[in-house]
Amino acid sequence: MEESFNPFRIAQQQLDEAAKALGLDPATQELLRWPMHEIKVTLPVRMDDGSTRIFHGFRVQYNSARGPAKGGIRWHPQETVDTVRALAAWMTWKTAVVDIPLGGAKGGVVCNPKELSETEKERLARAYIRALARSVGGTRDVPAPDVYTTPQIMAWMMDEYETIGGESHPGVITGKPLALGGSQGRGDATARGGIYVTREAAAAYGIDLTGGTMAVMGFGNAGQHAALLGEEALGLRLVAASDSRGGVVNTGGIDPRALIEFKRKTGMLKGFPGADFLSSEELLELDVTVLFPAALENVITRENAGRIRCRICCELANGPTTPEADEILAGRQIVVLPDFLANAGGVTVSYFEQVQNAYNLYWELQEVHWRLDKKMTRAFASVHDMSRRNGIGLRQAAYLVAVARVAEACKLRGWV
Ligand code: NAD
Repeated sequence: MEESFNPFRIAQQQLDEAAKALGLDPATQELLRWPMHEIKVTLPVRMDDGSTRIFHGFRVQYNSARGPAKGGIRWHPQETVDTVRALAAWMTWKTAVVDIPLGGAKGGVVCNPKELSETEKERLARAYIRALARSVGGTRDVPAPDVYTTPQIMAWMMDEYETIGGESHPGVITGKPLALGGSQGRGDATARGGIYVTREAAAAYGIDLTGGTMAVMGFGNAGQHAALLGEEALGLRLVAASDSRGGVVNTGGIDPRALIEFKRKTGMLKGFPGADFLSSEELLELDVTVLFPAALENVITRENAGRIRCRICCELANGPTTPEADEILAGRQIVVLPDFLANAGGVTVSYFEQVQNAYNLYWELQEVHWRLDKKMTRAFASVHDMSRRNGIGLRQAAYLVAVARVAEACKLRGWV
């Protein structure tokens, strides 16, 4: 992997900058540069044709100073341990920036879910959690869905874990279906959190969203809900969206509900009536009020940053902007809402799910929305305040807020 695009090197570089700005001692900085626990698993899985395939998976528990580790599981053909490490680091900063009592983790399995049948997915899900059963749990590390993993996959994993332990443990995993102890409001939580933060940022920077436009790269869970809520809560008009097969554009506006329905029926966005085809690369450069990168990492780079024209870039994906691109966007007065703040709504409602599981008492949807709004609004306010007081960008400010909180917890425990 090319070093400048190795997400873990980027995560370490970001941490080093925050440590320097905070004046952290060398031991604390070195501790926070590395995952505290990494697990590599090799998973033999019986395929439908009777053959056995070997899958490789990871679980990285980055830091648990503030509470049990927390983070999603990705199923992706290009998964690498360094991607998982970086994402685990970002989870640590994310739980800290929204001030929930959890640490950070991430998991991944190298596989192409599009090539797996439902029964093969089930066997892979069960094999993964079996291999990790001694290392996860409500007081240790709580996984959740991420790229290409679903509530159904979480349900299989929870069932396997409970079967091993012989007792009920709904809090072992979040993002479960509602019928198995999932939380109201988890489905759109990531996008909703991003929408709340976009609303706060627009108010803080005097950007009028009324009659504004949005473009969404990555029309999956986070992206589809961003399009719906961007319209519903912020009054933004969707003008373009893309997925792994390309996208569609219509500056006159696209009905997000119709586009979701079209993707559900055809499996793609291409061919949506009344809209023209465009690539994800072209979508990023559209002149829109809000851009939602909601797919993969490293899509806004030194090469295209000079051509990005949105007013607010709300990073729903993890790591969509490289550090060089970040500097270019800052110089062009584009408000970048950093990933681990902008997409923290998902983990926040996951945390609400754990709380409800622990109490075996479930909240109404309105209560989840109200609590999420409060958490995200408060998180934006502390990051914006740090940014103003120190004359620094929102990403660096978010790092300072988060890293300071994790460093304090490590210090209080007597680790450093
Ligand atoms: P998802 O699998 O539901 O959707 C991902 C979408 O991205 C798919 O539609 C896929 O077709 C599309 N995509 C893949 N490659 C693309 C490309 N080159 N160009 C355009 N689109 C492309 O996943 P998701 O849950 O929506 O997650 C998306 C991003 O948000 C990831 O970076 C994930 O880590 C992050 N995130 C998700 C959550 C969550 O709760 N779902 C929480 C925090 C962060």
